[in-house]
Amino acid sequence: MAKETTIVKCKKCGQETDDAVLRKNGRMCPCCGNYFRMSARERIALLADRGTFREHDASMKSENIIDFPEYDEKLEKAIEATGERDAVVTGHAKIGGIMTTLFVMDSNFMMASMGTVVGEKITRLFEYATENRLPVVGYICSGGARMQEGVLSLMQMAKVSAAVRWHNDAGLFYMPVLTDPTTGGITASFAMEGDIIAAEPGALIGFAGQRVIEQTTGEKLPKGFQSAEFQLEHGFVDLLISREESQKVISRLLTANTAAGRKFR
Ligand SMILES: [Zn+2]
Repeated sequence: MAKETTIVKCKKCGQETDDAVLRKNGRMCPCCGNYFRMSARERIALLADRGTFREHDASMKSENIIDFPEYDEKLEKAIEATGERDAVVTGHAKIGGIMTTLFVMDSNFMMASMGTVVGEKITRLFEYATENRLPVVGYICSGGARMQEGVLSLMQMAKVSAAVRWHNDAGLFYMPVLTDPTTGGITASFAMEGDIIAAEPGALIGFAGQRVIEQTTGEKLPKGFQSAEFQLEHGFVDLLISREESQKVISRLLTANTAAGRKFR
């Protein structure tokens, strides 16, 4: 059966490009260089040295624990659309020859919202990294907590944060890279707990949305106040890493942290 071609239109320049071309091109617009959102697997293929990625907890899957209406259907749809079992892929791999653990969130799966499985997988990854004295690199995006899991989803913020702290207390390196969009409970926890906080250019990074803040405070906010560039200028983000150079820059930072005396192998 012939495969259908999907044409994707660039939001920035309007250029229409075949999805297959974008897949090969790191999801960057061939016309203006604008970044399209990437799946977790595409991101891992871009970052990890070929053939080195080993996935953790691949079979873990969310359940409708509080019997939330229509959650089962939503999960099923997301699984079918992405081929993933939940919104984060975790594992270990080499990046530029350096062994590291890696978690990558996938915005195609329910806007990468954080439920118990997302929280548990990331917590386990930090515990594995602490035990094995490895750094953690996290490619983050998220719409926030997963409302279909109620307070159990909010509890993940504290659980992951504790695991991040133990990893940090062991003198190990953690770098989150914030991609489009990073919002809500994720921004209020592990997205902002890194030794170095990086972001992808143009990414939307914030807690609540612009309209909600304006309605609450009654103040008009400056244009682009939740962009990666604005967050860099105001000290929430330490550096921007372009997609083209991500592997090179991350392996350099991982190397520098070995040289600085943080022991990991
Ligand atoms: Zn474009």
